[in-house]
Amino acid sequence: MAKAQKRFGPPPQKVDLVAVSKTFGAVDILPLLEAGQRQFGENRVQEAQTKWPELKSAFEGVELHLIGPLQTNKVKDAVALFDVIETVDRDKLARALAAEMEKTGSRLPCFVQVNIGGENQKAGIAPGDAVAFVDRCRNEHGLNIVGLMCIPPVDDAPGPYFAQLAELSKLAQVDSLSMGMSADFETAIAVGATHVRVGSALFGSRPPLG
Ligand SMILES: *Cc1c(COP(=O)(O)O)cnc(C)c1O
Repeated sequence: MAKAQKRFGPPPQKVDLVAVSKTFGAVDILPLLEAGQRQFGENRVQEAQTKWPELKSAFEGVELHLIGPLQTNKVKDAVALFDVIETVDRDKLARALAAEMEKTGSRLPCFVQVNIGGENQKAGIAPGDAVAFVDRCRNEHGLNIVGLMCIPPVDDAPGPYFAQLAELSKLAQVDSLSMGMSADFETAIAVGATHVRVGSALFGSRPPLG
């Protein structure tokens, strides 16, 4: 990460490592917590509920990021457990999050997820709608939008998509950029990522889905 930051600088931006612990249990997560890692990412609310309440009470300062799709019926649970929501991508969800945060007196930092490759199967707001959506999230829904997040298409070189997200972040006037995973975090940092979401490079490979 430090090497990639030097390529982007000067001055190098601060880059946060979000350790993606999905599919891994407490035994695998504990060594990272003990080594001082505090930012973690999970993609499913229900799975996170099985491990993080206990880990959070055992370790101070944990910042848990929701990095997977959020259904509105899970908003209450998500706001109760997570510290950062990275996947705000539609008005209905923004409205539900804002209402829940109002009710609980929290104001979690949120990222807007952008479907940067315009892929049918992927979540996220269309790139052309992203700036207006960030505005609505802030000014109509009252969310604390701090950045943009994306997952580029798996089969393409990621650099141009990351650079496009960086451009959008300037237009939307947000400071944070969550982009880059195990295979491409150096590229993401080189074009301005402030948060990289790294799973398998830290934890080892995950069992195949399903
Ligand atoms: C699983 C996941 C990651 C981490 O992927 P790796 O390739 O294991 O680093 C990052 N972001 C999201 C949204 C994920 O679901």
